[in-house]
Amino acid sequence: KHVGRNGYHFFQPSMNTLAQAHLQLMNDLWLALDRHEFRLLYQPKFHAPAGPILGFEALLRWEHPQQGLLSPDLFLPLAEKTGLIVPLGNWVINEACRQLREWHLQGHTEWSMAVNLSTLQFEQPALVRTVLDCLARHQLPPESLILEVTETTAMSNPDESVRVLTELTNAGVKASIDDFGTGYSSLLYLKRLPACELKIDRAFVKELSGESEDATIVSAIVALAKTLNLKVVAEGVETTAQQAFLTQLGCNTLQGYLLGKPVTPQAVDALCSQAVPPEGASAL
Ligand code: C2E
Ligand code: MG
Ligand code: MG
Ligand code: MG
Repeated sequence: KHVGRNGYHFFQPSMNTLAQAHLQLMNDLWLALDRHEFRLLYQPKFHAPAGPILGFEALLRWEHPQQGLLSPDLFLPLAEKTGLIVPLGNWVINEACRQLREWHLQGHTEWSMAVNLSTLQFEQPALVRTVLDCLARHQLPPESLILEVTETTAMSNPDESVRVLTELTNAGVKASIDDFGTGYSSLLYLKRLPACELKIDRAFVKELSGESEDATIVSAIVALAKTLNLKVVAEGVETTAQQAFLTQLGCNTLQGYLLGKPVTPQAVDALCSQAVPPEGASAL
């Protein structure tokens, strides 16, 4: 400690370089919000099998001045550890709502917006207030916002999750359980969680085929969702075979590179201003 804030010479030289790169990224990350380097891409969610578009999921990117466009996997864990995820997450909620309002004003009032929440964000006492203030600021109906919380986050403190999600859904906001199947849900809590949908994790979609074990798992999740009155979204749909099979198994909503990759809002606008696509063509 006595070496002060910049004394990292207790590391091995190779370690020093790594640690410095890490610290540099951490430093850049704190500045990035003020420097307006974060962007949101929007990935469409389709009514199975091929449309119409029901809405979009906002996915965060960092336009790093030297390193280019960075995926959330590269900086979200750091943002979560340092607490930056709270102001950053608030920026995401606001920016996604601002964009949705724009699309609603263009006539796409049926579109919803899904926003991912991290565990730390979900634990903020001010979350409900923040979300409701944001909806009011952008004059959006609460029903048009879907908050995606991973199964792991929801189950890390189940009683608290039930309380927070109940408060949000009482106000009209929707909740979605993301990456479903990768956590350890208690069925008792799942029953009490006031969510509107389960998103089947991409891992189960990847090797889906008639004979695969994953098909049995997807069928079981669909049956469970039906019992609990939840919609089922499949993420990571990349092939027409997966699209057909997931639809046949009873998934209501599909999301994936096959139907639409995460794109800039300008790309969404450009595609919407084009003529109606020919029969059978995907809208994005
Ligand atoms: P997620 O919410 O489960 O989002 C799905 C991820 O799968 C996204 O990765 C998306 O780009 C990718 N994906 C979508 N379709 C396909 C496909 O067909 N094939 C493949 N291989 N991948 C597909 P992305 O954008 O890198 O985001 C990764 C994770 O980072 C997200 O997983 C979410 O947990 C988190 N995340 C993203 N944006 C935010 C945010 O604004 N706030 C928070 N707290 N977390 C975020
Ligand atoms: Mg998600
Ligand atoms: Mg997911
Ligand atoms: Mg994920």
